[in-house]
Amino acid sequence: MRTPTFTCMLAVAGAHVFGGHLCTALAWDAHGHRTITRLALDGFVASAGSAAPLPDWLTDESARAMVAYQSSEADRYRGTRSNYLAHENNPDHFLDVEDLETFGLTLSTMPPLRYQYVAAMAVARHVHPEEHQPHNPRLNPSGDQEWPGFVAHAIAEHHAKLTSAFKTVRTLEQLNDPARAAQLQMARANVLVHMGHLSHFVGDAAQPLHTTRHHHGWVGDNPNGYTTDRAIHAFIDGAVLTIHSLNYDTLRAQAAFDARVDAGDPWRDIITYIQRSHDAVEPLYMLHKSGQLTQDPGRPFIAERLLDASSMLAALYTSAWNASAPTDRDVQDFVRYDSPARAEPAPGMGKPQP
Ligand SMILES: [Zn+2]
Repeated sequence: MRTPTFTCMLAVAGAHVFGGHLCTALAWDAHGHRTITRLALDGFVASAGSAAPLPDWLTDESARAMVAYQSSEADRYRGTRSNYLAHENNPDHFLDVEDLETFGLTLSTMPPLRYQYVAAMAVARHVHPEEHQPHNPRLNPSGDQEWPGFVAHAIAEHHAKLTSAFKTVRTLEQLNDPARAAQLQMARANVLVHMGHLSHFVGDAAQPLHTTRHHHGWVGDNPNGYTTDRAIHAFIDGAVLTIHSLNYDTLRAQAAFDARVDAGDPWRDIITYIQRSHDAVEPLYMLHKSGQLTQDPGRPFIAERLLDASSMLAALYTSAWNASAPTDRDVQDFVRYDSPARAEPAPGMGKPQP
């Protein structure tokens, strides 16, 4: 369980009961998420488009700019003060890997299905109450700090939604029905929305401080004297990218796009990806302590995190695309569910006849 800090407690105590939680971290700022997205789109075009070119609506500069913008939407949710939104959205941005142990879980044994994961933790907390501080709704009214986090589940779920969105577009394109023009336009927009959401959480998971209980400075035993300054989080999110001039143009030549994802079930690949980021937590603190994070050794270290994210995201985009070709049965089911006879009328055509 994430323990609210003193600063957080003050902020929450001053918030309205339905106020948003003020202390959950962002990850890469919008610039970092855009960089990951634009790199990944290059990898997607190169791999998924190798058999047949991807359509313009998915790859032109307008689409790239929209997906890059959308890749920060999940952080914009934090700007609306709602416990309902904070409860649902905030824990999707992180996974404090060390805290799984208090629920008898590890990265490799964590249930892949979200509510089975929650149920397993609730049972563990009931059986071993001594391992857990009870959740305090006064200090954390949205409950967004109650569990170790859901970023792995968010990636898997958004990958599945993107696969579905691709399939709908390709189904509508096969139908090629002028009466469904608005449906196709919206379906294409949905693809860009889901590509952006997926990018966000893949990006977050590559920020090592989003995979650890030491997310805002080292907590607990600290024999190596790592920083306990909360500011390290924001420093990694943004300032260190500026210091090393890490952006699309400077990283493009290094992007390898060698990650691969099992389209049928990407869970193991997602877990391996999060483990790589978690493995970088202590090296990150060591670089920070030695002062090398802002010097030559720091640049490839942070660049590798951004490039790993773009490679993984490209692989997830590609696997979703490759799994989305509709079968004849898919097309028939789509029409049966939403038949032309009951379609929305074109503007000015009046109500459809029953
Ligand atoms: Zn985030």
